[in-house]
Amino acid sequence: MLGIGTLAKKVFGTPNDRKVKASRPLVAKINALEEEFRALSDDQLRAKTEEFKKRAAEGESLDDMLPEAFANCREGARRAIGLRAYDVQLLGGIFLHQGNIAEMKTGEGKTLVATFPAYLNALSGKGVHVVTVNDYLAKRDAEWMSKVYGFLGLTTGVVHPGQDDMSKKQAYRCDITYATNNELGFDYLRDNMKSDLADLYQREHNFAIVDEVDSILIDEARTPLIISGPSQDRSDLYLAIDKLIPSLPEDAYTIDEKQRSVTFTEEGNEALEQLLHANGLLEEGATLYDPESTTIVHHVNQALRAHKLFLKDQQYIVRNGEVVLIDEFTGRMMSGRRLSEGLHQAIEAKEGVQIQPENVTLAQVTFQNYFRLYNRLSGMTGTAMTEAEEFQEIYGLGVVEVPTNRPIARKDEDDAIYRTAREKYEAIVEEIKVAHAKGQPVLVGTTSIEKSELLSQLLTQAGLPHNVLNARHHEQEAQIVAEAGKLGAITIATNMAGRGTDIKLGGNVEMKVMEALAANPEVHPDTLREKIEAEHAAAEAAVKEAGGLFVLATERHESRRIDNQLRGRSGRQGDPGRSSFFLSLEDDLMRIFGSDRLDKVLSGLGMKEGEAIVHPWVNKSLERAQAKVEGRNFDMRKNVLKFDDVMNDQRKLIFKQRREIMETTDVAEIAQDMRYEVIEDLVTKYMPPKTYADQWDTEGLKAACREQLGVDVPVDEWAAEEGVDDEHIIERLEQATDAAMAEKAAAFGDDNMRLIEKQILLQTIDGKWRDHLLRMEHLRSVIGFRGYAQRDPLNEYKNEAFGMFEALLDGLREEVTTTLARVRPMTEEERQAQIALLQQQMAAQQQQVDAAVHEAEAALIEEPAEAPAGRLPGFDENDPSTWGNPARNAPCPCGSGKKFKHCHGEIA
Ligand code: ADP
Ligand code: MG
Repeated sequence: MLGIGTLAKKVFGTPNDRKVKASRPLVAKINALEEEFRALSDDQLRAKTEEFKKRAAEGESLDDMLPEAFANCREGARRAIGLRAYDVQLLGGIFLHQGNIAEMKTGEGKTLVATFPAYLNALSGKGVHVVTVNDYLAKRDAEWMSKVYGFLGLTTGVVHPGQDDMSKKQAYRCDITYATNNELGFDYLRDNMKSDLADLYQREHNFAIVDEVDSILIDEARTPLIISGPSQDRSDLYLAIDKLIPSLPEDAYTIDEKQRSVTFTEEGNEALEQLLHANGLLEEGATLYDPESTTIVHHVNQALRAHKLFLKDQQYIVRNGEVVLIDEFTGRMMSGRRLSEGLHQAIEAKEGVQIQPENVTLAQVTFQNYFRLYNRLSGMTGTAMTEAEEFQEIYGLGVVEVPTNRPIARKDEDDAIYRTAREKYEAIVEEIKVAHAKGQPVLVGTTSIEKSELLSQLLTQAGLPHNVLNARHHEQEAQIVAEAGKLGAITIATNMAGRGTDIKLGGNVEMKVMEALAANPEVHPDTLREKIEAEHAAAEAAVKEAGGLFVLATERHESRRIDNQLRGRSGRQGDPGRSSFFLSLEDDLMRIFGSDRLDKVLSGLGMKEGEAIVHPWVNKSLERAQAKVEGRNFDMRKNVLKFDDVMNDQRKLIFKQRREIMETTDVAEIAQDMRYEVIEDLVTKYMPPKTYADQWDTEGLKAACREQLGVDVPVDEWAAEEGVDDEHIIERLEQATDAAMAEKAAAFGDDNMRLIEKQILLQTIDGKWRDHLLRMEHLRSVIGFRGYAQRDPLNEYKNEAFGMFEALLDGLREEVTTTLARVRPMTEEERQAQIALLQQQMAAQQQQVDAAVHEAEAALIEEPAEAPAGRLPGFDENDPSTWGNPARNAPCPCGSGKKFKHCHGEIA
């Protein structure tokens, strides 16, 4: 029997069906133009591009030009790379142009899909960015698709780390630019630290197509991009604290796997205090609860987390004396990415490797806020639907599921659940044996390096030859993945290793051709290709005969999306295939999130040794558990973002101001406005409104004018004159300083003066902004204190941040004014020296920025682990100093479940 929902969908169609249907007429229009464009010569196709550009410049909308532009692009691609886009690919292209996420399965040809909206939007001349997850893919896709763009008369560029200035600028000036999200974000930050317009890399943020969009906008968006510089070395502290952790008794802490947190117990706090005293880390008489102990408590907490929550070969590996994090989703090494707030250093201390200095932030942006800069944003991926709400809410992106070119023939089996992990693995090995015997290629998905290696051992014992694809081999990833569809291949992979590389049944023809060409340079390429294609056709048929690619997952991931990605590796373009999940009651997800009900039902069934339960109900139940986790993770990301939004508004303002200054040749007026405001502030301070002349501190004002405005004027005499009020004084000070500045300008030469003003403005903004960033970080960590004072922490944060921003602007005005007041006219010699010095300073600053960016490029810093939902960033349940003043009857923030007054708040 059909449910009501299913029935309604049958009758009315889903919203997705309607979106797809609505775009069909556009596809029909493009198809109708196909003949016409096919009749054009290569030159005529190129001339079309010129014509479209002209029409766009004259105001014709891109929407109106879409059918013709797509028809031209389809024909161009057919001629340039031999691929004629399927109708569903045009559909995907349309949705991208409209600013959606096109969900298109693996192997549907998304690389080609992107060329359509890229071509169309490039006609505006404002540039298009195609965003990929790694540099290898940016280069590969750009090389491949530039043939299409070039054929149609458009330019293509690739941006990559370590590129020289000239070629990077050039790449950004191309019609279409391929780059990774990281490099785009870094270049944006870098641009905002430059002082010359001609040095900017990026143009406006016009249109972006983000490939593997879920990976970039959801998984990677958990970590902001940070450019930072090193601070002082505190290795000794880390080492000293690290030594303490192993001597803590078992009952000193509790570990909560669900929240990924570890908390000191009451006993633990006592033991810790004693240890710290004994080791001289806490002064005589001091307690953990003293404000002065905050730093030490913070580092002890980080050390405890380093020991208990970060396990070698799971969360990180040690390679070449460095602690390298592993992406929990992809299982890949995140080279250079570092945990922040001393956590990475704590792990380094634990592993006994060199402790690298902590960094301070010079500039920072989240991917959410970077990608919101674009006038139009779009994305594509095989798996977006499960996260549709987040895409909508955070990025305003709708998700449209594009039908596959051919019906999916893959069979997705119900999960098989075993009692123990051992039984599960035995069953897995058996299953692989069976598939291998008939030549069916198997892709085995695991959730960690450790597990992929365990499985590898089991397969070796069983005499099954296989490849392992995990963080340690990521260089050869593309190669191994391309082979994964060969007859009898067995490939073990951590979740999405090798993303972006298509698994073709029978292997990858292009790769085989390349290899053959390299090995047989004497044979004619065409002959070789023909031979290899024939061989490949036979191999492909054999693999299809054996059932196509078998995806065998050994665990369910926290997120359904990641499971779907794995499944989607099989059954591309209507290929036969099969996917199956092998689970056990001992799996992390089952242990931590499985419902009691599931447990009861399963144990009630009285499973026998080696037997599995397979039932659709189990799948449903697991998916519900996953959805719950996904929701919680989304809430956490939203909360982090709310806090970041506050700073983002400020950043936008500062960057905009900065940009305006860069674009203005004569900033004298800006400097003058600043000076006038400083004058007003000074007068208000020394001659407060509604006070009498005898209450004025004119001596103080006189001194301040000399000090800050660089003018020696008889304010005291002015104030003593009959009928003079603050307005008069302000006016006279304005005149006096104007005259002084004019004198300076005359001495410097007007042009030089403008140059000096500009540099001073920009340098001061940068310095102030950096200080502000650091202060905002501190604010964020202490704001947790106030959560328990019954006030809304976000509001508190906003208010304080606003106050700090006002202080930043005040300070900026004062510093610019004072600095300018102190610049004095000089002899020609001095003048030259001054200019040289300024240039040197600028160069030094630029160098520092470059070095920092260089560092950051490798070193992406991880956000502190997210606070549990409803809690604040900065709140740490192990660290009472972050709790503020909990109500005596409220539950204790440590999570013990006891009331505060009976727990940490107990009065001895
Ligand atoms: P996706 O990113 O969607 O997984 P890719 O862009 O990597 O897919 O393309 C997968 C394969 O499909 C590539 O080898 C490509 O050459 C091929 N392909 C794409 N579009 C077409 C087409 N219209 N006709 C034939 N082959 C195509
Ligand atoms: Mg792809």
